Amino acid sequence: MSILVVGSVAFDSVETPFGKAEEVLGGSGTYFSTSASFYTNVDLVAVVGEDFPQEHVDFLKSRNIDLSGLSTAEGKTFRWSGTYGYDLNEAQTLDTQLNVFASFCPQLPESYLQAEYVFLANIDPELQLDVLKQVVRPKVVACDTMNFWIDGKRDALINTLKYVDILLINDGEVRQLADEPNMVKAARKVLAMGPKTLVVKRGEYGATMFTEHGVFSAPAYPLETVYDPTGAGDTFAGGFMGYLASVRDHSDAAMRRAIIFGSVMASFNVEAFSLERMRSLEFSEVEERYRKFQLLTEFSGID
Ligand code: AMP
Repeated sequence: MSILVVGSVAFDSVETPFGKAEEVLGGSGTYFSTSASFYTNVDLVAVVGEDFPQEHVDFLKSRNIDLSGLSTAEGKTFRWSGTYGYDLNEAQTLDTQLNVFASFCPQLPESYLQAEYVFLANIDPELQLDVLKQVVRPKVVACDTMNFWIDGKRDALINTLKYVDILLINDGEVRQLADEPNMVKAARKVLAMGPKTLVVKRGEYGATMFTEHGVFSAPAYPLETVYDPTGAGDTFAGGFMGYLASVRDHSDAAMRRAIIFGSVMASFNVEAFSLERMRSLEFSEVEERYRKFQLLTEFSGID
């Protein structure tokens, strides 16, 4: 089983209180694919410029990420720069340069058209819908977005959400999208826009899943070393969707386990800049942290 993803492949420049990285590999599609590839094969749809180095292409290929959908266009690769204060939960965007993404018209390779699992990573919502419309019969469609698009392309985003089963966004974005400060009310409003499931990412405070049936909440793994939260959300989504696609089960119990796998992947990613921690990560470490998560949240009922 593979997952089709459309998202950004980028050069990121990031500054946190613990260090700085210039023009390193990043992008929502990159983080998602790398994380999901621990669970399943990934088909990546994106565009890069002529300045994108072969070593990054080789890294993605080494992860069993199919790159037939990655095109190279004349011009520069997408660039994002951001900074974080001691509250690492919120990135402040300094600059977004869409570059080759501004005129990208994705044409899916024949081999991607039958995809059952689709992830619309954070990118222009019009592009997300363009890609989704080409997929013949998707079974599970999940989506991410950010304040940049909620502000700048609200109508297009609301249109895309009609076709989405699972929306994964952070708490500030839920409030902004719903125009409602109370999280429970905001979640209800977002669920009325189309998605049957809303996963709210809350940084170091964990993640909460809202469905029409109820609410599930998981803490984040308590970490002593957090260097760079960039990509945590996409890495979370990669673990979440990767697990669901690998077990082909979308029951409430499977979705709860998927939230923990997502949280585990994100907890590793923030331990280093860019995708450095993902490069050295072994699946046995993922399993070990998953077990620690079970202990973290285990408690007995009231007798
Ligand atoms: P996250 O920290 O998981 O929310 O995602 C961070 C990644 O999103 C970075 O690697 C950026 O390159 C990418 N990114 C930032 N802004 C945008 C945007 N407007 N569209 C697409 N990708 C973006």
